[in-house]
Order: sequence, then C-alpha cells, then structure tokens
Amino acid sequence: MAEEKQIEDILILGTGPAGLAAALYAARADLRPLLLTGTEIGGQAATTDRIENYPGFPDGVGGTELADLFQKNAERFGARLEYDTATQVDLSSRPFSVKTYSKEFKARALIIATGASPNKLGVPGEESFRGKGVSYCATCDGWFFKDKDVAVVGGGDSALEEAIFLTRYAKTVTIIHRREELRAGALLQKRAKTNPKIKFIWNSVVEEIRGDQGVSSLLIQNVQDGGKSELPVNGIFIFIGHSPNTQLFTNQLKMDDKNYIIADAHMNTSVAGVFAAGEVCDAFFRQVITSAGMGAAAAISATRFLESEGE
Ligand code: NAP
Repeated sequence: MAEEKQIEDILILGTGPAGLAAALYAARADLRPLLLTGTEIGGQAATTDRIENYPGFPDGVGGTELADLFQKNAERFGARLEYDTATQVDLSSRPFSVKTYSKEFKARALIIATGASPNKLGVPGEESFRGKGVSYCATCDGWFFKDKDVAVVGGGDSALEEAIFLTRYAKTVTIIHRREELRAGALLQKRAKTNPKIKFIWNSVVEEIRGDQGVSSLLIQNVQDGGKSELPVNGIFIFIGHSPNTQLFTNQLKMDDKNYIIADAHMNTSVAGVFAAGEVCDAFFRQVITSAGMGAAAAISATRFLESEGE
C-alpha cells in the first residue's frame, strides 16, 4: 500500500512551454501532475529576451516572464514542481519508472517535454572557451560583451534575432554564415541588414576558436575559394540549430533519423501511456505557441488514457 501511494498519475519531464502547458491541463483535470524541472525552468523560451509572437502580448513579453506566468498558472491548479533531473527511464512496463540522481518516481502516464539543445560547431576551442567567450545564449551572456566585438554563427531566425539583441551591448556584431543567402524570415533579415552595428561574412565557416584566457580571434575559411582569414573578436555566439534531448529514450521509443520522438496527432508515442510534446518531437514548428499547444494536447490525451483505464 505504501508503495502504491508513490505512483503518480501523470509525470511530466521538462518545464519549457510544452511541459508547463501540459501541467496546466493535467492540473485542471485534477490529476495533480508532478513535473521534473530539469536544469532550467522555462526551457529555451526563458533564454529568449523578448517573445513577440505569443498571442495576447501585443507589446511582446520577456521569455523568463512568460515562463514564470506559465508556471504560476499551472501551480495555481495544483501542479507540483520537483527540482530534479531524470537520469534513467524504464518504459518497458507500467507504472513507468523515472530515476533521478537521488530518487525514483513511478507514473501511470508520462509526458515527455524535454525539448532540444543547441548544436555545437565541433571545432577546436569551442569546448575549452565555453563560458570564456563561447556562448549559445545571447540573453544570458550578452551583457559581458559591452563595447566588445563579437561574432554570431548561423543564418536562421535564432542567429539574426540574437545578433540584433547583442547590438545593445557589443560594439560590432559580425554574422558568419556558410552561404550567401539567409534562412531567417524577411522581417528579421531587414532588421539585421539595416542595423549599423551588424556586418556579414558570407560563404564562410569557423575553423578554430583562438585565444588565451578568453576568446581573442576566429580562424575563418571561405568555402568558395578556400581562403583563410583571422577575425579578431572577444566572443562567439553559436546558433546553428538544435538537437532533441532524447538520449534517455533510445531503444525505448520510436524516433526519426534525427532522434526526434515520433508522436501522432494526439501526441501518443510508440508506447501506450507515454506522450510527447514540444521540440522533443517537433523539428518543424519550434514556436512557444506550438509547443504549448502540443503540451495541452498531450495532457488531454493522457487524461483520456487514464480515464479509459478507469483510473
Ligand atoms: P535553423 O533555422 O535550423 O538555422 C540554422 C542555421 O545554422 C542555418 O542558417 C544553417 O545554415 C546554419 N548551420 C547549421 N549547421 C551549421 C554548421 N555546422 N556550421 C555553420 N552553420 C550551420 O535554426 P534556428 O535559427 O535555431 O531556428 C530553428 C527554428 O526555430 C526555425 O523553425 C525558426 O523559424 C524558429 N525560430 C523562430 C523565431 C521567431 O519566430 N522569432 C526565433 C528563433 C527561432 P543553412 O542555412 O546553410 O542550412
């Protein structure tokens, strides 16, 4: 009997927009969901300076502020946050088991909302200068580069959005892109191209990050003529896409060739009772609103799943 009491109805892994929206819906279904927070509440949304495309906020809203509102909303209806990280998962039988560094949780239904993490360039200097000039988050680290020269790698929405943000602090922001056409949307392109602090280096890749105590320059190669040059900078911000955080579920859930969890329109995964939501199963939309929508859908599906079992 004592053991039975520790079985959660719904355990949610992750507290980005998907996990927190799932928590709100599961809480309002009176299931008192438990969330394992992972290392950061709010996920990638919380590392975004300003979110201007989440409906209901015509003047935009800070990423951490929005995450905080999501959390308060879920907690108001009974969601519980456990400040811990899942290290091992067993989906082979129910109740499912989720271990953290210090505890084991059991759950009748599981919602996976572990999100995605920034991709690395994989060049010399990237690891050794991490936190000493190499960053994956302008909102977190931009302040350290007041009146300094920085580089941004990538040509997508993230790279341009973060480059524009960095112009608040940095003297110059040089965007290094491997092609001569940006992937980012038209509005961001216009804003970046008209910003006097932003310069572009086209058709080029970073080969090495150099420095001593911190980053002092980048070795850059032009991919068209093979020519190499050195760009003096104090910091490099890397925004070259993301990979899903699905290592815990390898060989337990069906995934696509890029390791995103495969979920159907009702957020069911290949294991009954396990649902996925947000960027962990979405390489395409990757918006706060779509992740939150998937979280809500996953919670509704999980609630119906438990009800169908008479629980
Ligand atoms: P992304 O759209 O996949 O863009 C990644 C960029 O990095 C591309 O320009 C790519 O070059 C480049 N890249 C990839 N691997 C590289 C490598 N090894 N070396 C050098 N460059 C490399 O990723 P994202 O910008 O993070 O955006 C992800 C999704 O989130 C997108 O759907 C985006 O629309 C969305 N998003 C939206 C907003 C917004 O609405 N405000 C903000 C941020 C993100 P190529 O172009 O040559 O492939």
